[in-house]
Amino acid sequence: VSRFNDITMAPPDPILGVSEAFKADTNEMKLNLGVGAYRTEDLQPYVLNVVKKAENLMLERGENKEIPYHLLDLNVLYLPIEGLAAFNKVTAELLFGADNTVIQQQRVATVQGLSGTGSLRLAAALIERYFPGAKVLISSPTWGNHKNIFNDARVPWSEYRYYDPKTVGLDFDGMISDIKAAPDGSFVLLHGCAHNPTGIDPTPEQWEKIADVIQEKSHIPFFDVAYQGFASGSLDEDASSVRLFVARGVELFVAQSYSKNLGLYAERIGAINVVCASSDAAARVKSQLKRLARPMYSNPPIHGARIVANVVGSPELFNQWKEEMEMMAGRIRSVRQKLYDSLCAKDKSGKDWSFILKQIGMFSFTGLSKTQTENMTSKWHVYMTKDGRISLAGLSSAKCEYLADAIVDSYH
Ligand code: PLP
Repeated sequence: VSRFNDITMAPPDPILGVSEAFKADTNEMKLNLGVGAYRTEDLQPYVLNVVKKAENLMLERGENKEIPYHLLDLNVLYLPIEGLAAFNKVTAELLFGADNTVIQQQRVATVQGLSGTGSLRLAAALIERYFPGAKVLISSPTWGNHKNIFNDARVPWSEYRYYDPKTVGLDFDGMISDIKAAPDGSFVLLHGCAHNPTGIDPTPEQWEKIADVIQEKSHIPFFDVAYQGFASGSLDEDASSVRLFVARGVELFVAQSYSKNLGLYAERIGAINVVCASSDAAARVKSQLKRLARPMYSNPPIHGARIVANVVGSPELFNQWKEEMEMMAGRIRSVRQKLYDSLCAKDKSGKDWSFILKQIGMFSFTGLSKTQTENMTSKWHVYMTKDGRISLAGLSSAKCEYLADAIVDSYH
C-alpha cells in the first residue's frame, strides 16, 4: 500500500491542458488557439532570425575564446544568483529606457528570474516576507497562473473589476473604485500591455487616472510585462505604461518575460525589477531577492540570458529584432482584421464585432461562454481556453473563415 494514498489526482492545467487535448485530436481541421505562442502563417513555431544570429555569434566567440568580458567566458559553471550582469543591464534599459533617471541613479534592483512566471514568484516571495498581510489586487479576469503564484507564495489577493461583458471593453469605473476600496498600501498587479486574456488595455489618459488613484492610496504598482512589443509592434511604446508610473517617482515592481517577444519560451528568461526611491534601498532589495532565490533554484539559466544580452546589447541585432517584432505583431493584426471581416460577412444577426479590432496583442476575448467554447472544440475542433480567449498568434489567414464559421455557429 502506498504512502501516497492521500494524494489525489491534480486537475490538468487549464491552459497547458488545452494543448494536450489538441495533440490527441486527429481531425485535420483542428486549430490550437489555446496557448499564447507565436506561429507562422503555416502555423509552425518560429525561431527569430535575430536569435539564430546571436547564437551563431556566441558559438563563434566561444570557439575563438574571444568573449567580451561582460559576456562571461564559457567555462563559467554557474551564473551568480542575480543572473548575467550584461542581461540585467540591458533588460532594465529595454524596459525603462537607457536614459531613464532611475537607471542612471542606480535605483533599480534587477534580478534575472525564471522567465515571467519565476520572476513573479520571486516578487511574491519578497511581498510575503517584507509586507506581511499586504494584499495583491489582480484584474478580473487575469492570466490564470497569477492566482496560483500568489496562493503558493501565501500572499492574499483579491480581484478588481476589469472586463465589462456588456461592452466587451474595459470596466474603467469599476476598476478605479475597486482600487480605491482596497486597504492603503496594497499591491496592484497591472498588465503593462496586451492584457491577457482580454486584449483590452487602458488608454494613456486612463493610465494617468489609474496612477492618480494608486498614488492617492499609497499602493505599490506591480507590473507584469510578458508581451513588450506585441501590443503596438514597438518595444518602446509598449513600455509607456510602466514609464509613466516611473516618471511620477513611484516605487514599483516589474516582472519581465522574453518567452513571447524573443521566442525564448523554454529557455526561461525574464527578470524582476524593483524601482526604489534610493540606490541604497535598491541594493538592499536586490540582496534580499538573491537571498530568496538561492534556496528556491540557486541561480538562473545562462544560454538565453546571453542571447538577450547580445540582441539588446548590439545596435545591429537590436534593430533587426525590432523589425521582426513588427513583422510578428503585424501578422497578428492582419489575421485579427481578417477574422473581423469574415465574422461580419458570415453573421447575419447584426451583432457588433468591432470589439475584435479594438483588442490588441496576441489574444482576443470573444465573449463566448463556457458551453459555447465547448461547442467550438467538440464540433469544430477549435481548441481555446474556457474563458472564451483565443490566441490569434496561432491563427493563419487561411483559417480565418473556418474560425468565423465556428464562432458564428457557437454564438447562436
Ligand atoms: N504573465 C502573463 C500575463 C502571461 O501571459 C505569461 C505567459 O503566458 C507570463 C506572465 C509568463 O510566461 P513565462 O513564464 O513563459 O515568461
